[in-house]
Amino acid sequence: MDCIFCEIASKSSEAEIVFENDKFIAFLDINPVNYGHTLVVPKKHFDNFLTIPANELEEMTKLTQYLSGAIKRALKADGFNVISNNGTTAGQSVFHFHYHIIPRFENDFHIKPRTIEYKHAEIEVYAEKIKEVVSKYEGLLNG
Ligand code: AMP
Ligand code: ZN
Repeated sequence: MDCIFCEIASKSSEAEIVFENDKFIAFLDINPVNYGHTLVVPKKHFDNFLTIPANELEEMTKLTQYLSGAIKRALKADGFNVISNNGTTAGQSVFHFHYHIIPRFENDFHIKPRTIEYKHAEIEVYAEKIKEVVSKYEGLLNG
């Protein structure tokens, strides 16, 4: 499979690794938004946030929490962003699921997208659309 993160996980491509165990690997992004920008990656290939099994996601999220704290402390960051881009439109460029941990420093840059406004009762219409599908598949939440 032609996947750069699978190659890094199997050591056929190099990366600056900061953490590794049998299931996950974390390494520095080669095009960082800030120094210390880290990617947390499952060694098994899953395309995105929706296709990684829930138990693996839970473990990966716990690890991301731990690594975020460690990075914040190591780099004396003021804060950090944890981001997952899903789909080309959302900015995903490597289709192997990963979390970005981006250390943040006062006045470094603004990451907030522009906001828009709901008109009249539009907010209810959007809530209804979402709730209809949420309730349809709710059973899947408990296995
Ligand atoms: P995304 O655009 O959310 O899919 O994130 C993919 C990230 O992987 C980008 O920020 C890239 O800079 C980074 N990236 C791509 N190839 C490599 C690589 N060989 N080593 C480290 N980071 C990489
Ligand atoms: Zn992969």
